[in-house]
Amino acid sequence: MSSTSKQEYMDQAEEAILHTYQRFPVVLDRGEGVYLYDTDGKKYLDFAAGIAVCGLGYHYPGFDEALKAQTEKLLHVSNLFYHVPAVHAAQKLKKVSGMDRVFFTNSGTEAIEGAIKLARKYAYLKDGKNDHEIIAMNHSFHGRSMGALSVTGNEKYQKPFRPMIGGVVFADFNDLDSVKAKINEKTCAIIMETIQGEGGIYPASETFLKDVRKLCDAHDILLILDEIQCGMGRTGAMFCWQNYGVKPDIMTVAKALGGGVPVGAFLCTEKAAAMGAGDHGTTYGGNPFVCAAADKVLDIFEQDHILEHVREVGAYLDARLEELSAQYDCITAHRGMGLMQGLELNIAPQTVINRALQQGLILISAGTNVLRFVPPLIITNDHVDEMIEKLKRCFSANLG
Ligand SMILES: *Cc1c(COP(=O)(O)O)cnc(C)c1O
Repeated sequence: MSSTSKQEYMDQAEEAILHTYQRFPVVLDRGEGVYLYDTDGKKYLDFAAGIAVCGLGYHYPGFDEALKAQTEKLLHVSNLFYHVPAVHAAQKLKKVSGMDRVFFTNSGTEAIEGAIKLARKYAYLKDGKNDHEIIAMNHSFHGRSMGALSVTGNEKYQKPFRPMIGGVVFADFNDLDSVKAKINEKTCAIIMETIQGEGGIYPASETFLKDVRKLCDAHDILLILDEIQCGMGRTGAMFCWQNYGVKPDIMTVAKALGGGVPVGAFLCTEKAAAMGAGDHGTTYGGNPFVCAAADKVLDIFEQDHILEHVREVGAYLDARLEELSAQYDCITAHRGMGLMQGLELNIAPQTVINRALQQGLILISAGTNVLRFVPPLIITNDHVDEMIEKLKRCFSANLG
């Protein structure tokens, strides 16, 4: 395909699609393994995975076949009926999380909406009041719909869309005193990402998460952990909180759950399962097609020992990025766990990302000054080396 037609596609997209993204000048066409190809046939090593979605990369053995088999049976039925793929996917999610109940959604933001509603209902059942507060974290990200945006501690994302939903207060992540200061008799839940993703790859400290759990237990407050980005094996545990030895009352999952098929979920313990018939719903959520995808993803995780692989290659990525940060002055910090890593820079991440694209490497940023590494979970040490070599060329160019 010629470059003129690529430009034409880009122009047509800008004319037809609401301009809410500053897109890279690349028209992606197909994927294979951990590589993407654009319409000019240029090959890219993918260290973004569709923003932590394509955990199994592209065309993982057996995945396409499972999707195809389900399309030939049934794509959709309403939630007024039972169907087998939802049963299988829900049972497997329960097993890997140790949670008791699952509600399937179409996206991460909808999983957050459900989690917020569940926390409000739990508190309402206790005291019959309608004044309950949720404590959320500064620099968090939970999604773009109004409820999720209301618990997203980012002035830029909220400002044009106010008023937000009521009853949300913000505390500082990894600062227990700041959380304590916001607790009162109205507090029904504390919501946080186990690793802040969009905010710049900040993992919760072990003491903070454990202390917040104790605080929640002492005051009968529900702990909601957002695992949408850091969950599904990315840190070497199925869910990141499993690394800490704490358990949430409600958790959210999405992104990598469907291996590229849009499916999310919120899960809760029996204690927090405060919703009954009529309290919540979704037309598409958890339909047979998306549940077949989630079911297959969870099968592959187990059969092919994806978590063990992530622990190995994640340690290697961590070591190589640590080595890199010692070599370049433009890298001011290195944070992360497993295959969710970030390099904080004192130069614009965009400059590096654009150079990386030219080198055939896809990277994304987080926050204002962080280069984010969220590759498919199936990358190998060789892919890490390939990425590091390309990245070095981007930094060298910058240093002249
Ligand atoms: C991406 C993300 C969301 C929102 O998910 P969508 O599917 O884009 O609605 C929520 N929380 C976290 C931590 C995320 O990374």
